[in-house]
Amino acid sequence: MTAAISEEILARLARLDNGKDSIPLHEPIFRGNEEAYVTDCIRTGWVSSVGAYVDRLEHDLAAYLDVKRAVVVVNGTAALHLALVAAGVTSQDEVLVPALTFVATANAVAYTGATPHFCDSATEHMGLCPEKLDVYLAKIARRDEQGRCINTQTGRRIAAVLPMHCMGHPLPMDRLMEVATAYGIAVIEDAAESLGSQYKGKHTGTFGHMGAISFNGNKIITAGGGGAIITNDEELGRRLKHLSTTAKSSQGGFFHHDTVGYNYRMPNLNAALCCAQLEQLPEFLRIKRSIAQQYQTLFADLPEVDFIEEPAESKSNYWLCSLRIHDAQTMAEVIDRANAAGIMVRPLWEPMHQLPMYRDCPRMELNTTETLHRSVISLPSSVNLSFNPA
Ligand SMILES: *Cc1c(COP(=O)(O)O)cnc(C)c1O
Repeated sequence: MTAAISEEILARLARLDNGKDSIPLHEPIFRGNEEAYVTDCIRTGWVSSVGAYVDRLEHDLAAYLDVKRAVVVVNGTAALHLALVAAGVTSQDEVLVPALTFVATANAVAYTGATPHFCDSATEHMGLCPEKLDVYLAKIARRDEQGRCINTQTGRRIAAVLPMHCMGHPLPMDRLMEVATAYGIAVIEDAAESLGSQYKGKHTGTFGHMGAISFNGNKIITAGGGGAIITNDEELGRRLKHLSTTAKSSQGGFFHHDTVGYNYRMPNLNAALCCAQLEQLPEFLRIKRSIAQQYQTLFADLPEVDFIEEPAESKSNYWLCSLRIHDAQTMAEVIDRANAAGIMVRPLWEPMHQLPMYRDCPRMELNTTETLHRSVISLPSSVNLSFNPA
């Protein structure tokens, strides 16, 4: 019975085509000025920690997202870490993190010494559920005289929340902001996967106090490796830049470092590649929507599965198209057989509270997280993907 269903899903996936022997989940595509800009860095010698492409990328990214400031850094994990540092998160604090995320979200919290506190997702968008968070905080949190949010069970401050836009699908940020504001909790959006996604006409990553983006090789656009922190707070933007460049100031040829800074700035070489990629983002977004549309059609008549569509009032970048397979056995078979056939499909990440280093962290009920983990797979989603007729 399940074999017949997985057979049927496989037959449909066999129509995917990228002109090669195997189909990765997501590969970078270079169709623009990548070579010209990178060559320019090499010819002029500006390959490292300063250069015109770094400034240009920060400018272009801020303009595209309509934010006051973008600070580019070595990767998305560093972006999250630096945002938490700038938000004043310390080892005495807890930070609310979805249990369903890439491990970097929780790791960035651990780097500050703070304790990740795991939250459940919503089925619709797979991101942190603001409604569940509201109910949960009403039970376990109170605000103290200074307005700080205290976890009454551990006595620690809940300093921040890190909502993550899963696979590029926006979560309802207005509701999340409402809940966080009511409890005096800072919001840092993990928009690593969702560059170009919008909720109610506004870019993800721009609702919270800060947002983090990733330009890793498997994201919608890449710098080779890289990330960015975005904010509408200019003072915070200056501080993030300062912290990312070893907190250095110079006066008449003398250098001074006024706090423990980080060597997190993005090299010019990576910024050059990323500038060229950013120019193509609107085109990539168009192609991604078309891929999502074709997947939707491909699986429309199969009652055993649902293609996961963008949530209400959202425009997703469809970074990784995803399929819900109702039966766990079928899902395991599909993963096995598709990968054996050279078509890469992946389950969602192992939930954070199941990992050895985070097993003892505080958490709410994580039923939806566990259900999503057992039923959702990611499908090949590179912009060079095409669909052969049946
Ligand atoms: C990719 C990713 C990151 C980390 O970005 P890197 O650039 O790989 O460090 C963080 N969070 C999520 C949800 C991601 O998908």
